[in-house]
Amino acid sequence: MTKNESLFSEAQKYIPGGVNSPVRAFRQVGGTPVFMKGGEGAYLYGADEKRYIDYINSWGPMILGHRHPAVVEAVEKQLHKGFSYGTPTEMETEVAKLITQMVPNVDMIRMVSSGTEACMSAVRLARGYTGRSKILKFEGHYHGHADAFLKKAGSGLATLGIKVAGGIPTAVSEDTLVAQFNHTEEVKAVVNQHRAELAAIIVEPVAGNMGCVPPVAGFLEMLREECTRHGIVLIFDEVMTGFRLAKGGAQEVLGIQADLMTYGKVIGGGMPVGAFAGKKEIMSRIAPLGDVYQAGTLSGNPIAMAAGYATLQMLNHHPEIYKELDVKTKFLASSFARLSQQYSIPLAINQLGSMISVHFCEGKVTDFEEARKGDNDRFKKFFHGLLEAGIYLPPSAYETWFLSIALSQKDLDETVEKAEKIFKSF
Ligand SMILES: *Cc1c(COP(=O)(O)O)cnc(C)c1O
Repeated sequence: MTKNESLFSEAQKYIPGGVNSPVRAFRQVGGTPVFMKGGEGAYLYGADEKRYIDYINSWGPMILGHRHPAVVEAVEKQLHKGFSYGTPTEMETEVAKLITQMVPNVDMIRMVSSGTEACMSAVRLARGYTGRSKILKFEGHYHGHADAFLKKAGSGLATLGIKVAGGIPTAVSEDTLVAQFNHTEEVKAVVNQHRAELAAIIVEPVAGNMGCVPPVAGFLEMLREECTRHGIVLIFDEVMTGFRLAKGGAQEVLGIQADLMTYGKVIGGGMPVGAFAGKKEIMSRIAPLGDVYQAGTLSGNPIAMAAGYATLQMLNHHPEIYKELDVKTKFLASSFARLSQQYSIPLAINQLGSMISVHFCEGKVTDFEEARKGDNDRFKKFFHGLLEAGIYLPPSAYETWFLSIALSQKDLDETVEKAEKIFKSF
């Protein structure tokens, strides 16, 4: 048995599937998950003593790379002052203020401890605000694991082949309508039929949980228009895209403003943080100001805020980071396009900023149906070939890769060189 096999076998005795979040179990690609024991810059270090170039970056948060000195320093400072007080702290106001500067349409923001909590709370708020019950989401979009969202919910469930999630009351699930992302006419019809009952439309403005799938021209504009026309709250789930695509997230890049936004991942710099934010008029309905209740013992946790604040400040003061990430990610995208041509392997490459994914199929991938066409056997070989070569990709074609600024051109060159060997072998 390898070190990973024995660690995994022991983990499976005490933890369901040996993991604390399903995607880590390598179910789509097979094999044994790599247990990590350290991270530094662009690299993860495995229990097997191997070095891996990291393209997951904890599924997004580590945009500055692992153990960025500014973040380490901020966390170390706070460690000496205590872990949690359960009282307001000045730092929470500083974080909130900074975010209102980075994202133009945030009047107010409430911190929570995960992206799931953020989306769940935003939907409750939208329901309280509108007095309506139904929500509309899109196939292949993931908004965390709250009851209302586990319908056609993208990567995690798709990877495991779960068609109907267990444990969700029919009454809850009936209030969630699902349409196809990027299908304008279908969405308009659903909205028209249910407009009086729709509290919110929740959308990943750039989808990242069926691979990376950007919106087609006009789609989000149409959502914005329909929501304004019918008094529906438009929620952008920016848990993945927030502070990753730009300071102002997908809203800034795409030039569209939602009514409420949810955040997670980058906002905590690697600590468990989420947030929901938006217009004052809506946010004022949250307790203690209003009647929509939401709370959290560890919300705004001082150590988590220290890591998040240091990360966000870095991004705020160095906007060139986004340009640099885009250049690096484009280099990967164009290199893979070249390999695809050179070796006649059909490949759909989607990339926006530092988000990129590859599907081994002909044509474009613009919705979940198309994302499913990918040749999984080929993806498996690609994934395991690169893993063997010390390059750590998400273990599912339904997941987006996230780059960090710590990646050097040498790391990228090495990645392409190793990828070429696998293309040759197909
Ligand atoms: C990761 C993710 C979530 C859930 O966040 P957690 O912190 O895992 O609960 C919600 N929405 C999107 C778009 C995500 O990518």
